Amino acid sequence: MELRSAEGINVKGKRVILRVAFDVHFIDKSGVITIEDDTRLKSAIPTINDLTARGAKVILMSWLQRPGGQPNPDMSLVPVAEHLAKLLGQSVLALDDCIGEDVLSKIESAPDGSVIMLENVRFHPGEKDEKTLDEDYAKELAKNGDLFINDAFGQSHRDVSSITGILKYLPSYAGPQLQKEVEALSGLLDKPARPFVGIIGGAKISTKLEVICSLLDNVDELMLGGALANTILLAQGMQVGTSLIEESMIAKAKALALTDTRLHIPVDVITAKEATEDAETFTRAVGNLEPDEKILDIGPDTVKLFQGVIKSAKTIIWNGPMGWYEIKKFSQGTSDIAEALASADAHTVIGGGETISSVSQLGLEGKMSFISMGGGAMLKFLEKGTLPGIKPLIKE
Ligand code: ADP
Ligand code: MG
Repeated sequence: MELRSAEGINVKGKRVILRVAFDVHFIDKSGVITIEDDTRLKSAIPTINDLTARGAKVILMSWLQRPGGQPNPDMSLVPVAEHLAKLLGQSVLALDDCIGEDVLSKIESAPDGSVIMLENVRFHPGEKDEKTLDEDYAKELAKNGDLFINDAFGQSHRDVSSITGILKYLPSYAGPQLQKEVEALSGLLDKPARPFVGIIGGAKISTKLEVICSLLDNVDELMLGGALANTILLAQGMQVGTSLIEESMIAKAKALALTDTRLHIPVDVITAKEATEDAETFTRAVGNLEPDEKILDIGPDTVKLFQGVIKSAKTIIWNGPMGWYEIKKFSQGTSDIAEALASADAHTVIGGGETISSVSQLGLEGKMSFISMGGGAMLKFLEKGTLPGIKPLIKE
């Protein structure tokens, strides 16, 4: 899949809307607001610098958290603009809105090479949530620019005004990060080196069942862990005690091809009565736990089984921790899998907020071939092979 790139396009004196995914979390330490993780800001810097060096006015556009279609000062992008300015070593003009005459005239009077940040696009009902596409609002947003670059892979699975709406009204291109993501992930779907294996864990099977099913069409082996495996164990008629499960997903979990020999679910688990650092833990064969225990990690035999599959793989995709890794006692399975990927002689791709943070806690980020910043977008891409915000950017 080749995407239209803005690389050779003349942007001198042009207003370039750069769609970014600056959906950060703030930490308020006695009135001082800082950004929890500025990776997304840092990774946009080369693109911003390239565009300003080519004489463009760069107009950054993003949403931030969930203001629900109305202004909310706690969800303003102003602190993000201030932090970005420090990273860039250049001032960033933060506007107090993202559409309207005042915004247009401020953009107009900014010199070429400026960096401008529009206010949160979710401050208007035209993009009140991740499902709202309002053509009029998209047109208003489009007035701010002469061309549009989508570099927000992590939000490109959303059919919304600022992703799919706006690109109908402006010449539109794929940004470098979006291109990298698409290249890495479509490489997995299109002739991966085999054996190709997948590992899916994390909290909810409801958010991952579709990707599990579509991966099963493609991978040679698929391993499941984390809380989402609990619902599958339960669907198989096993005792799961007080484990986190999703009642509404039991029927669908039953329908998963559980006799498929390529699918590996835990054979043993670490349990405790409570998910606390000082809880007494037990190693149990699956189905063999006490009614007041919960499954909080995969067990050592499961780790061995998964390690064996990983060792023989040539391509690996991993999303979702194997247990409640935030509590050290239940982080062994996740660390062991992370280590196994790090030392595997394979092309390794990982993604997902918690998966990335568990790998970076272990200092193993550099050992992975590719880290997708996509989260939900990555899962959707693996399921569908494209995303709504990417499809219109494919080169004809
Ligand atoms: P990612 O962000 O990497 O896609 P998810 O958001 O799906 O991952 O899930 C991560 C969360 O799942 C973690 O916060 C972890 O504590 C939780 N989790 C994993 N296994 C269990 C378990 N057995 N019981 C409770 N929570 C779990
Ligand atoms: Mg998560």
